[in-house]
Order: sequence, then structure tokens, then C-alpha cells
Amino acid sequence: MLKTAMRYSHTLLTEVLHSGSIAIDATMGNGYDTLFLCETVGDTGHVYAFDVQQQAIENTHRRLSEHHFQNVTLFQKGHEHIEELLPKDTMIDGAIFNLGYLPQSDKSIITTATTTIQALQALLPRLQPKGRIVLVLYYGHEGGTEEKEAVLQYTASLPQELYTVMTYQFINQINHPPICLCIEKKER
Ligand code: SAH
Repeated sequence: MLKTAMRYSHTLLTEVLHSGSIAIDATMGNGYDTLFLCETVGDTGHVYAFDVQQQAIENTHRRLSEHHFQNVTLFQKGHEHIEELLPKDTMIDGAIFNLGYLPQSDKSIITTATTTIQALQALLPRLQPKGRIVLVLYYGHEGGTEEKEAVLQYTASLPQELYTVMTYQFINQINHPPICLCIEKKER
């Protein structure tokens, strides 16, 4: 069976992350991706996770708590601050974004084109060769289409000598089938 956009986002990261990797969860939400990244990079790796909402930090903290991970830093800060919050010169192997609003929560707190693109601009120079940034775009909510269009336009304009950019979507689904978008950095 073909994988859902969410499942496929993990497959794409599993292929490039290993024990000791540095990874980013740019939108913690309920913490599922943070947990997946912590398990994948292991004790010798590190995960830096971001969200603007206290609820997301609490949910993620709760999800991680039974595992006693030492390899994770949770920031209650927007991902547009990644550049100042990541340790200087840290290179990353992978990053994930889940765009939209936190399910079962305040639908007015959404990711936006400006800050999402700001975060991408901060992460791209820090991406290791063969590293991947994966975004799952949800856009059925108000403001979602604007963000989707801007993110697609920005990533489609990345120079092909440096990056490969892919989208994955079930195009015969009703409503607003999520898009999994992957940016892979080429080897130098
Ligand atoms: N729509 C997805 C979940 C998206 S969660 C799904 O259905 O599975 C998106 C998360 O991004 C929310 O928890 C929200 O608080 C967070 N967020 C919003 N703006 C942000 C920003 N500037 N930086 C980091 N996280 C942000």
C-alpha cells in the first residue's frame, strides 16, 4: 500500500538519519515527530524541537517522558528563530515540518508562509550533503492555501545544482489531501 504523506515523511527521514545525527522538529505539535526523531538519532545524536504553543511543549514533554531521552532540546519559540537558537556551526542531517494548526486546539494559531520560509532559509545552509528537509503541508484551513502556494513557489525556485525537491500527494482524494514535500541537498 502507498504510504500516507505523514508516514512517507518518516520514511524519507529514516533513509538519511542514523545514530548520532542532528535533527530538527520545526513544529512539535503533539510530539509524534519529536519522539520518532529521538528514537532514530539515539543517545549520541540530538533533536532540537520548536513550537510557539505551551500546549505543544507539554504534549511533547509528556510523550517523551517515559523514554528518558537525554538527546533533545525543546524550545517554546517559533522556528523563525532557529538561526539564533541552534548552536553555532551545527550542521543538520534532517528536519521535519508539519504545517497548519495543532489538532484539537486553537485553529487560529497556524504556521505561516513568512516564518516557514524564514526557517527554511536558516536550515538550508546548515543541511549536510544528502540531508533532507521534509514538510507535510496541510492547507484545508483558512490561510492554509496561501502558505502552501508560497512554500511550493519558494522550494520550486531552489537551484537544481544544489537541491532536489520532490512532492508526494494523492491527487484523487477529496477535500485537501496533504502534500509531503522533500528538499534534498546534493553532494558537493
Ligand atoms: N496539521 C497537522 C499538525 C500541524 S501542527 C496535523 O493535522 O497533523 C503545527 C504546529 O505548528 C502547531 O502546534 C503550532 O503551534 C505550531 N506553530 C505555529 N507557528 C509556529 C512557528 N512560527 N514556529 C514553530 N511552530 C509553530
